[in-house]
Amino acid sequence: MPSYDPNNIFTKILRGELPCYKVYEDDKALAFLDIMPRSPGHTLVLPKAPVRNILDASADDLAHVMTVAQKVAKGAIKAFAADGITIQQFNESAGGQVVFHLHVHVIPRKAGAPMKPPASEKEKPDVLAENAKKLVAAIAAD
Ligand code: 5GP
Repeated sequence: MPSYDPNNIFTKILRGELPCYKVYEDDKALAFLDIMPRSPGHTLVLPKAPVRNILDASADDLAHVMTVAQKVAKGAIKAFAADGITIQQFNESAGGQVVFHLHVHVIPRKAGAPMKPPASEKEKPDVLAENAKKLVAAIAAD
């Protein structure tokens, strides 16, 4: 497996060199909105540790990322009146991974509404800002 690239786009977000629509942060994880959401509120949950994907992650980082994904999922159900949540996680190019810092997708779903194709359309900044605000409030209220 290739080694971890410290200049991948998500590491730059983690270092604060690039902006994001943050929805949750603690000492070990960060969650922010996907800028090309497959549904409103589509969120990415990352460990802060330099981890490429599930193949080099520690058990602790994996467990924590999933705990945060659950927190975001519960918030998203409330914030977006979602009927369900799809969790996705891709590993290496052959597995569909595009950005090589471990991340879990939390995708709110409405009954009968298909997801948009991956990375198909960049969402407007004001929509992302509003969705982040709703999700932050819902997570904080849990
Ligand atoms: P994956 O590696 O899981 O296949 O896909 C990477 C995901 O990151 C895609 O869903 C894509 O829309 C998202 N993405 C790519 N670049 C950026 C970015 O600069 N900021 C954010 N927030 N999401 C991004």
